[in-house]
Amino acid sequence: MKYLDESDQHALPGRPIAPGETFTFHCHPGIACFNQCCRHLNLFLYPYDVLRLSRTLAVSTDQFIDTYVDVVLRQDHYFPEVLLRMHETQGHPCVFLTETGCAVYSDRPHTCRLFPMEQGARFDAATGRTSPVYFFRPPEFCLGPHEVKQWTVQSYTEDQAARHYYDMTLHWAALRRRFASDPWGLEGPEGSRARMAFMAAYNLDRFRQFVFQSSFLKRYRIKKPLKMKLQRDDEALLMFGFEWIGLFVWGIPSKRISMR
Ligand code: SF4
Ligand code: SF4
Repeated sequence: MKYLDESDQHALPGRPIAPGETFTFHCHPGIACFNQCCRHLNLFLYPYDVLRLSRTLAVSTDQFIDTYVDVVLRQDHYFPEVLLRMHETQGHPCVFLTETGCAVYSDRPHTCRLFPMEQGARFDAATGRTSPVYFFRPPEFCLGPHEVKQWTVQSYTEDQAARHYYDMTLHWAALRRRFASDPWGLEGPEGSRARMAFMAAYNLDRFRQFVFQSSFLKRYRIKKPLKMKLQRDDEALLMFGFEWIGLFVWGIPSKRISMR
């Protein structure tokens, strides 16, 4: 998901799709380009993608990060990006690509769900509200748009079960946007505070250990029902992690977390 200001919305490639506007697309195993789009990708994963993929693969988030992704900190960026690893073999297929399609289809990343649409989030500085924007941008080799099946953004989003992904990713996008400027000071984006923020967003099993097995609960006060929820509910922990990053990095007040 790209986070867009008014000025850069028109700079993105692809055709913007308005709500209610229709487009044709159908992707199926019989199509000549089947699986071509799952190769040679810069596929960015969001925190919720990592959670879903690690759960479906029955590995810890730690193992998932070690095995399946590259964590890249680009020069002059203040938070790393998480990219799904591609095989080194010819054509660089995605590590989850099989002859019959995607091996993690039911938990495939947000970007894969919406493909060949791309979703952005438009921030309105006047109202402080965020709304989604969509672009249709199939690569040239993609034959899906020549099929007859018709969609709107809404029907395609529902068909791909992408709505919940959007909701989860939007929370992260709002926080991620703040990393456009350096919050780390002398410590830099590879320092211990930055590593802790990364853990809270992407390495949820480690973050749960941190919350329950370190001095975290001596330093932060949270109510007992929430504490119990965080022990067993991954999505609640992820949202809590975002809230804690806001408080920990920028001092954004939280109704649920207070300093002791
Ligand atoms: S290239 Fe397009 S039509 Fe072909 S498999 Fe990928 S999404 Fe489907
Ligand atoms: S996760 Fe699945 S859908 Fe996404 S690129 Fe890999 S194989 Fe394709």
